[in-house]
Amino acid sequence: MITEKTNIEVIAFDADDTLWMNETIFSKAQGQYREMLQTYIEPEVLDQRFHETMIRNLQSFGYGIKNFTFSMIETAIELSYGKISGLEIQQIINLGREMLKHPVELINGVKETLHKLSKEFELMIITKGDLFDQEGKIARSGIAHYFPRVEILSEKNEMAYTNILKRYQITTEQFLMVGNSLKSDVIPVCKIGANALHIPFHITWAHEQVEEKEHQNLSYWKAKSIKEVPDLVKC
Ligand SMILES: [Mg+2]
Repeated sequence: MITEKTNIEVIAFDADDTLWMNETIFSKAQGQYREMLQTYIEPEVLDQRFHETMIRNLQSFGYGIKNFTFSMIETAIELSYGKISGLEIQQIINLGREMLKHPVELINGVKETLHKLSKEFELMIITKGDLFDQEGKIARSGIAHYFPRVEILSEKNEMAYTNILKRYQITTEQFLMVGNSLKSDVIPVCKIGANALHIPFHITWAHEQVEEKEHQNLSYWKAKSIKEVPDLVKC
């Protein structure tokens, strides 16, 4: 925990499950998918295979709802040995489409916090996922005006953060990244020597989970709610 005035000038926020709910939408859709296919497949088998398919497909489709939807279809075809009907595939596509249209639900305290921070800091969004979907969510969120800079990346790793800092001429001391994922928002940021703040969300996607040893020696801030950010940065 930092107790003195920091040199932070730019605060970057992750978007999904940091500014607005996301994993809850995916979990709900996966529940409906499970129900839809219960006549063909045991839910546990489906979950496991679906997860594997989605991770494998990240290389082709990247993060986001498109990959989720393609992977639901692919897994259903594989596990039903091709018996799944066109009608059922249509239902899966509809499930994906509903996810894309889902209203953006801001996490409690986001608006007030951004309002306060925007008076003293330059705010940024750094998110990963599907460009079209993320741009749509930012536009519908009602908080886009707080973010003069938005970066939508295919992966959030050390190289990606280094490039952003270089491009905007921000030093590591001036930069704070706030997010719910240790893997994407905290560990790579700490490793390049910048500041990171972890605010966990109640559900973490299995792919974003990391082992304790990967972050136990790193120094970063922790908070339970975004509302704590202004105090942490002495705003
Ligand atoms: Mg996130």
